[in-house]
Amino acid sequence: MGPMTTTHHYDLLIIGSGTAGLTLALKMADQARIAVLSKSQLEEGASLYAQGGISVVLDETDSLQSHIDDTLRAGAGLCDEEVVRFTVEHAKQSVEWLIDQGVSFTRDDMTTESYHLTQEGGHSHRRVIHSADATGRAVETTLLDKAKAHPNISLFPFHIGIDLITSRKLFNEAENRCLGCYVLDIKADQPKTFLAQ
Ligand SMILES: Cc1cc2nc3c(=O)[nH]c(=O)nc-3n(C[C@H](O)[C@H](O)[C@H](O)COP(=O)(O)OP(=O)(O)OC[C@H]3O[C@@H](n4cnc5c(N)ncnc54)[C@H](O)[C@@H]3O)c2cc1C
Repeated sequence: MGPMTTTHHYDLLIIGSGTAGLTLALKMADQARIAVLSKSQLEEGASLYAQGGISVVLDETDSLQSHIDDTLRAGAGLCDEEVVRFTVEHAKQSVEWLIDQGVSFTRDDMTTESYHLTQEGGHSHRRVIHSADATGRAVETTLLDKAKAHPNISLFPFHIGIDLITSRKLFNEAENRCLGCYVLDIKADQPKTFLAQ
């Protein structure tokens, strides 16, 4: 007989509690019951170690087209121009969303409303908004605190996704759909099944 597995049902299953997973969780949390898995401690991941900041056109002398041109040039032919355009055009509203969540970006000085922008390699304007030299930590810990406080978000540290459950594997369906994930609860050394819409 194999080990007993518990089954968890959610509307939405998100694998990863970095800035990507937490952003999605917070944006969906008023409409769905959400599980967020992390294979390690919740804050552990690349997000925590990002330092420099986030490129965004905020300066009056800067332009979206200049940011797009710089990105394509630095990408040396590897960038998908449509993706670059989408990202650059949505950067301001995304950074404003982070500010609304409570991320404290470094200001020009304590008395002004405007944010301090740095200029990194490849950029022809000052356009990197940052939180001192630990931007990723500021974003990650702020979003994590918000997610912890939200009644619709359940966080599962030390739960590693092992295999996705798909309709083709389970029911041999022509149209393949992800139904959930088989997960190992590392601390309890127990397999678990997470199902989601
Ligand atoms: C040193 C450093 C400096 C950087 N500086 C910058 C910068 O200045 N500006 C910038 O924009 N970007 C920077 N980056 C890049 C940036 O950090 C990443 O692009 C971004 O954090 C990715 O976010 P994420 O949520 O996708 O991934 P992560 O933050 O890495 O999160 C991944 C999550 O997935 C979980 N996970 C993975 N596999 C499984 C599994 N099988 N089961 C369960 N959970 C799993 C992990 O536990 C973690 O929670 C830097 C990166 C590093 C490492």
